[in-house]
Amino acid sequence: MLLEGKVAVVTGASRGIGRAIAEELASEGAKVVVNYHSSAAAAEEVVAGIVSRGGTAVALQADVSDFAAADALIKAAIDAYGAIDILVNNAGTTRDTLLLSMKEEEWDIVMTTNLKSVFNACKAVTRPMVRRKQGGRIINISSVSGIVGQPGQTNYAASKAGIIGFSKSLAKELGSRNITVNVVAPGFIPTDLTSGLPDDLVKQTLAFIPLGRWGEAREIAHAVAFLASDKAAYITGAVIQVDGGIGT
Ligand code: NAP
Repeated sequence: MLLEGKVAVVTGASRGIGRAIAEELASEGAKVVVNYHSSAAAAEEVVAGIVSRGGTAVALQADVSDFAAADALIKAAIDAYGAIDILVNNAGTTRDTLLLSMKEEEWDIVMTTNLKSVFNACKAVTRPMVRRKQGGRIINISSVSGIVGQPGQTNYAASKAGIIGFSKSLAKELGSRNITVNVVAPGFIPTDLTSGLPDDLVKQTLAFIPLGRWGEAREIAHAVAFLASDKAAYITGAVIQVDGGIGT
């Protein structure tokens, strides 16, 4: 197994892509902290599934857009499993609308949930990772929107592009400590986040995806597991697009 004995924290792991990442990391031998915001029952279901397959996991509630709450999550994860080897910043949300009609609150919630949360959790995990002198892996989930833009997503695309700049900078700060910082940028994946898209828009997206289909959450999880493993030891500051080619 790729991640035997490692400890991973996955933010927003109660549903969708985060859930698939938590399950994949656990199947590769990692002990996993399944973070959630409000879906306690769903998070407990993820944990129960992992445990039933012989893995180790615990659900921890925290609103990672809140600085103190993200700090408390990292401390609770270290209390639970002794250390953190892998942090996956996956929690995210959308408030899609054209800029002409976008409200300030819609800008703020997307920026705090998607981007400030990454700062919060990285800020909390970096010092313990550096002090431990065992290296580490930080993997931040961006989006194809943050690379090529998308009408109706100025807030979302800005937050996801921000994650890329943040990660490339942090990779340069932490390289000497053997802590890698990488980004996975998914394309269209069927989850609650994308379930509200009108059918005709979904059909339109297919015309622009070279591989001709939407991706699956587990296909994002495979890239994350690779970046979290020793096989990716010489990769840092990279953006891996898992998008069927739509962002190229
Ligand atoms: P999703 O199904 O809506 O799930 C979102 C997850 O984030 C849930 O577990 C939710 O927890 C958690 N979350 C939201 N706000 C949070 C907060 N403040 N603190 C802690 N957890 C929070 O979304 P998804 O499609 O799986 O997306 C996961 C990530 O992939 C996001 O960063 C998204 O931007 C990115 N992405 C998705 C797609 C796509 O097509 N789906 C494409 C590109 C990028 P609760 O269940 O407790 O609310």
